[in-house]
Amino acid sequence: MPDRYDVLVVGAGPAGLAAAHTAAAHGARVGLLDAQPRPGGQVWRHDVRRQAPRAARDAIEKLHGVDVLANHSVVAVESSALRVEALQDSRSIAYGSLILATGARELLLPFPGWTLPGVTSAGGLQALTKQGWPVAGKRVVVAGSGPLLLAAADTLRKHGANVLGIFEQAQAATVHAFARQLRHWPARAVQAAGLRLRLAGVPYRFGSFVRHAHGEDAVQRVDIESPGGVQTLECDLLAVGYGLVPNTELAQTLGCAMDYLGPHPHVSVDRLLRTSVEGVYAAGEAGGIGGLAVARLEGAMAGHVATGHSVAAHALLPQRDRERRFSVLLSRHFALDARLRSLADNDTMICRCEDVTLSELDGFTDARAAKLATRCGMGACQGRICGTALAELGRFPRNGARPPIFPARLATLAGLTTLPSDDAYRGS
Ligand SMILES: Cc1cc2nc3c(=O)[nH]c(=O)nc-3n(C[C@H](O)[C@H](O)[C@H](O)COP(=O)(O)OP(=O)(O)OC[C@H]3O[C@@H](n4cnc5c(N)ncnc54)[C@H](O)[C@@H]3O)c2cc1C
Repeated sequence: MPDRYDVLVVGAGPAGLAAAHTAAAHGARVGLLDAQPRPGGQVWRHDVRRQAPRAARDAIEKLHGVDVLANHSVVAVESSALRVEALQDSRSIAYGSLILATGARELLLPFPGWTLPGVTSAGGLQALTKQGWPVAGKRVVVAGSGPLLLAAADTLRKHGANVLGIFEQAQAATVHAFARQLRHWPARAVQAAGLRLRLAGVPYRFGSFVRHAHGEDAVQRVDIESPGGVQTLECDLLAVGYGLVPNTELAQTLGCAMDYLGPHPHVSVDRLLRTSVEGVYAAGEAGGIGGLAVARLEGAMAGHVATGHSVAAHALLPQRDRERRFSVLLSRHFALDARLRSLADNDTMICRCEDVTLSELDGFTDARAAKLATRCGMGACQGRICGTALAELGRFPRNGARPPIFPARLATLAGLTTLPSDDAYRGS
């Protein structure tokens, strides 16, 4: 495999697949790398029991001439190159242009019992299920916010789970208003109708959220606050996610400017998806939550622009803008209820990697100071979960990322040609 590509794409989700295909079609030498073992990203994650949708198969089959580097995580940034860790070794891969298609992750909010075995995020349980974790016959409560709850419940049911209910924190009137707007996006309306049809019989409750999960060695029951009062449900699994936040750590390490939606950053780009760093582009959810259609369109645009075909990218703009408007609708209608920010009590574990409770963070207004004193955010997730939650709770902002972007072997770090500067550490 070469150590330099004309166009290097990070992330093999729908955005990265489209970017790689488009850039290669223009004759560029393209590398497409992803930490996951197979291309597809989140929405097209490989399912051990079901064939991938046709669009996913087409996108993967079209990768002629693209070097697909699966199981490759970008862990640090070097001069015009990325330090990439594979299963056995690590190496530096240089690029002419870099397309960041790093996607999004779920927002998790702490509540008493959220660290019990059997409690996961909604998309997390969906991913585990697709990878073969047995859920058949298990009683599952799905809760949180946004359309991903329905997609997760659908996957769980297809794998034989007994979904007891979907508990959406947004109020009924708001969700119904959202559903009425879907007529402006016919493909999404069809997708939503299909989901509702397949989930017929599963209660879908609004204005409802999990207050507490109880159990000895694993979750056994959950308290759900609904407009009618608190209800307790016996269950085997609880899947809770409060929407998505963009993965910006690599972009931040590269020095790309950020824009913010509430407390959460997304990569700042211009109309042609150029970031503030020369030769670096961002496509898909890294630049703001927008869903599958946006990811595919922006991936194609970034592939055009990175190879000097801006006119072709411009031609996709009207369609892209239309699809991006959907994200405004999403964030407006699934805005989080303020009560969710005070579910955690003093003893609730906030940083589960380093066992830090909420009360141990009292008095800190800065993530770095809290980290130095308590180790909050220093574990395997590198603050992705606790740091994002604390920003949402209004405790302190996420102010930057530091290498390694993902946990890495010491040998990988020892191979870095550019050592992280003090500044890289000061920011986080
Ligand atoms: C858990 C989860 C489940 C979802 N399920 C659905 C669903 O069922 N239906 C639906 O319509 N939408 C779903 N979505 C929304 C989905 O994110 C978008 O619809 C779409 O997949 C976005 O495409 P993307 O290419 O921008 O990013 P993604 O599909 O998220 O792809 C980003 C890729 O970048 C890789 N990556 C990130 N950082 C690095 C790095 N440093 N090194 C190497 N690789 C890296 C990741 O491994 C990932 O494969 C889900 C989102 C999440 C977070």
